[in-house]
Amino acid sequence: MQYISTRDGAARFTASQAITQGLASDGGLLTPFYIPKLPGKALEDLKDMAYQHRAVYIMKQFLEEFSVKELTDFAAAAYGPEKFDTPAVAPVHTLDGTTHCLELWHGPTCAFKDMALQMLPHLLTASLVKTEEFKTVCILVATSGDTGKGALEGFKNVPKTRILVFYPKDGVSQVQQLQMITQEGDNVGVAAVVGNFDDAQTGVKRLFSDEALREELARKGYFFSSANSINWGRVLPQIVYYVSAYCDLLRDGAIEPGQSINVCVPTGNFGNILAAYYAREMGVPIQKLICASNQNDVLTDFIRTGIYDRNRTFYHTMSPSMDILISSNLERLLLSLTQDVEEVKGYMEQLNATGRYEVSDRVKGKLQKLFYGYCCDDKETQAVIGRVYRQHDYLIDPHTAVAFSALEQYRKETEDNTPCVVVSTASPFKFCDSVLGALGAETIAEGLDALDQLSQLTGLPAPAPLAGLRDKAVRFTQTVEKDHMVDAVRSMLV
Ligand SMILES: *Cc1c(COP(=O)(O)O)cnc(C)c1O
Repeated sequence: MQYISTRDGAARFTASQAITQGLASDGGLLTPFYIPKLPGKALEDLKDMAYQHRAVYIMKQFLEEFSVKELTDFAAAAYGPEKFDTPAVAPVHTLDGTTHCLELWHGPTCAFKDMALQMLPHLLTASLVKTEEFKTVCILVATSGDTGKGALEGFKNVPKTRILVFYPKDGVSQVQQLQMITQEGDNVGVAAVVGNFDDAQTGVKRLFSDEALREELARKGYFFSSANSINWGRVLPQIVYYVSAYCDLLRDGAIEPGQSINVCVPTGNFGNILAAYYAREMGVPIQKLICASNQNDVLTDFIRTGIYDRNRTFYHTMSPSMDILISSNLERLLLSLTQDVEEVKGYMEQLNATGRYEVSDRVKGKLQKLFYGYCCDDKETQAVIGRVYRQHDYLIDPHTAVAFSALEQYRKETEDNTPCVVVSTASPFKFCDSVLGALGAETIAEGLDALDQLSQLTGLPAPAPLAGLRDKAVRFTQTVEKDHMVDAVRSMLV
């Protein structure tokens, strides 16, 4: 399997090069040259396997240089019982005959980022060996919340890696901050940046391009890399759970072999729903992909009009991990739909220059055959949380609620009652305030006490990693000005 940049078809890379590099040097995303098809009987065979074995089987199709033994060890470590609170890893919860919820938040940080960030460190460290890179990789992350904690947990104590996370001092929730500043592990560092997420992000980008720092660190045996969702090593593990969900439905008799399903995905950077598209390309009978957005509805408009336009108001919503106006992974979908790197390059140049591009009618036609886009605001999000709880006795977080709203809208508009897998991306306990509000609580307890309040109201236990935050010592109190992040890196890498 060879990889190319979405903006250049000539240069070819191996999987380990793609994973080590993260981003192509032309600014494009490293992407498989083609998507392998599953053999005819694969889904039947996979249906009786554990999640870990399904992961090995699917990932192997894209990772020729990795042995089955290697991948088996990675999957055991990434998705084992010390990491995930259910042996199913990514269980499917059925609400009614045609509505199934794929729960992706049973990992150590209670959000779906764990599905990929538990695997990425293994893929990356093995890729370093295969590409004969012997320095220690230093992962720099700017985070608005979930990615930072996910990356810290994934890379904690992984040999030959260091991880440094910068979060905006006043830009993350109390639970998210506690999750990060109490992080355990010998190779981790966390610092608050005075400013907002953009300040932290810009600062990290500046560190990446600081040649003097790069040379200084090279002398000490380090080089920089990134763990954000444009790395192929983050998209690949996400394909697995779509195949797995289909297999679970087959195994449990909810669908017949060959029967089609739809999927509905709460979307931000377009990584998660892109993985569903790739699962479909591999041969999983997925008919429609329903793309759910919050009030930041740039993708809804794109799917409906073929025009991507980020020149619009940015909203802070109660589903913050989807507050995004540039969905980076869309570039990979564009390559698949156009099969033309020059066309993709043109769109991306327009996006950089004007914040806008319009795809050709041919691409728009292909897009609209598969994708449906819907959005909803915070009021509707809360209403859906209440409705799903009352009707199905099932508690969902605000991101998942946006997806349920999209599914309702889709079914009303199309009258298509194909069985649908709705992707659930975070534990409701990660967003206690919004969820308690949706259930009608009049006052909401302070800080971590809100976990107990939600637990008492619903009879559900708070996930252990969140409940356990109370007993954790605070380890990281450093706050830096955005112009002094380089000092923080130096102090953390001595
Ligand atoms: C990151 C995230 C999303 C968005 O996923 P993308 O892959 O960026 O589309 C949705 N929900 C939660 C809880 C997330 O953390």
